[in-house]
Amino acid sequence: MIVLTGKGVSKGMVRGPVHFFRRLAADIRKNPASDVQAECGRVKAAQIQAAAQLRELAEKARGKAGDETAALFETHALLAKDEIYTETIRNLLQEQRCCAEYAVQTAGEQVSAMMAAMDDEYLSARAADIRDVTRRILNILTGTADSDGVILSDVPVILAADDLSPSETLQLDKSKILGFITSEGSDNSHTAILARAMGIPAVCGLGRKLLPEYDGRNACIDGSSGKVYIDPDATILTEFEAQWADRQKLRETMEAMKGKEDVTLDGRKLTIFCNIGSPGDVAAVRDNNGSGIGLFRSEFLYLAANSCPSEEEQFRAYRDVAEAMDGKPVIIRTLDIGADKQATYLPLRKEENPALGMRAIRICLNRPEIFRTQLRALYRASAFGNVAIMFPMITSVWEVRECRRFCADIMAELEAEGIPYNKHTEIGIMIETPASVLIADALAKEVDFFSVGTNDLTQYTLACDRQANDLGRFFDPRHPAVLRALKMAADAAHAAGIRIGICGELGADPELVETFLAIGIDELSVSPAAVLPLRAKIRKTTAETCTLGLLKC
Ligand code: PEP
Ligand code: MG
Repeated sequence: MIVLTGKGVSKGMVRGPVHFFRRLAADIRKNPASDVQAECGRVKAAQIQAAAQLRELAEKARGKAGDETAALFETHALLAKDEIYTETIRNLLQEQRCCAEYAVQTAGEQVSAMMAAMDDEYLSARAADIRDVTRRILNILTGTADSDGVILSDVPVILAADDLSPSETLQLDKSKILGFITSEGSDNSHTAILARAMGIPAVCGLGRKLLPEYDGRNACIDGSSGKVYIDPDATILTEFEAQWADRQKLRETMEAMKGKEDVTLDGRKLTIFCNIGSPGDVAAVRDNNGSGIGLFRSEFLYLAANSCPSEEEQFRAYRDVAEAMDGKPVIIRTLDIGADKQATYLPLRKEENPALGMRAIRICLNRPEIFRTQLRALYRASAFGNVAIMFPMITSVWEVRECRRFCADIMAELEAEGIPYNKHTEIGIMIETPASVLIADALAKEVDFFSVGTNDLTQYTLACDRQANDLGRFFDPRHPAVLRALKMAADAAHAAGIRIGICGELGADPELVETFLAIGIDELSVSPAAVLPLRAKIRKTTAETCTLGLLKC
């Protein structure tokens, strides 16, 4: 038996034969160009055709695989004609006087290598997008059929590959796929995104340990632990069967939680909302029966684009989420970039301490044109559902007042233009800094709700970089200082008659439910998969008997 360890990116356990995905690589040579202008023309025509194919695929994907997958193809359609990519091809054609095929392939390699080298995990995972688009343009130039390489066996398999592009994944017959294992990829890679969307277990990032000689051999994969067992022995098979049966039972128990209230045995409500990053995530919120959306990280719309999303683009995204949630609350956080989230087209000054620098609300207050566009989109969307607006990284009362002045201006503008919006749209702030905890009493008078970002609150309270991998036990969101900060903020919120939620990762910890109830937290906002286990825990708990024991040192 061979044991491989990668990153479990889509939960679940499966067993079956490994099947390697094969691509028929076109044989591209560096042939000289007799007419560089003509080669430029061939590239342009192929780019236009590729973009048209991708837009068509986006439409197909919308029905077949959801909005998130459709958005990937729309992004690819834009990438096919991307300025930097096109310029790289053109330079190669002119400098090397080579054929179109060679220039496209080389540009694809250069631009994808540049993306892969970026520090931002999300952007570096986009290198696969460039490779996918390049393959498509090359197929057009060489007249190769688009479905090349999809050679599937007749029985369901565990599909192995270096990485799979969205178009490759979409063309697979899902009934034949038990799971995915890939040598490349991360949580943000397409195999991971699509595997999660399709509910297929997947392990990524196996590196060179994933050898072609495993083709056809039996394997077990565990999408939670990231373990892959090739030729599993009897012990592993028995363990696997037992764990699989346990998980099935757990899944049935969780299914039974759907439609139930988020309420304790003695009638205290602790409502469970979901965190999302794009309209495509709403499907998972609905599947897991989330009671609303407690945090829509709007910056992902910005990070996934090549330029600032327009008012119209943002409006459509927010409206779609509000409509899909059908009257349930949708809290949309305004742009929270800076520090670990950088948009290449919005260059920020290089800072010594970016987590303490120009980020989140500070950028919005300093760049009114960006802030106003987003607020207009948000208020327009407020006419289509139960939308609330939330501001991140607040440290002072004046910031909230300034935000509110922007909101008042935008509402007056929409009024004058006769555009519908909800005059009573709730305004909330994130409690993510010790400053906001210490002045929570004053802040609570200015807003309709608080939501605690425990990821940043832990970072700033404990002076511990949330990005550093080696801080281990020093980064402790359960630290009494963080829990006491939660209590201070909760007391201030309730004294002012407003509600308080938690939208950081800490909220998903079922072991803290008693502490949250004792502190007086009203809402938790967590990833969709965490909703039902939390609901099960809350429904077994008696709020009255919960104590503040964990706040002691
Ligand atoms: C947080 O800081 O806890 C939070 C929810 O915001 P983000 O993780 O996006 O910074
Ligand atoms: Mg935060």
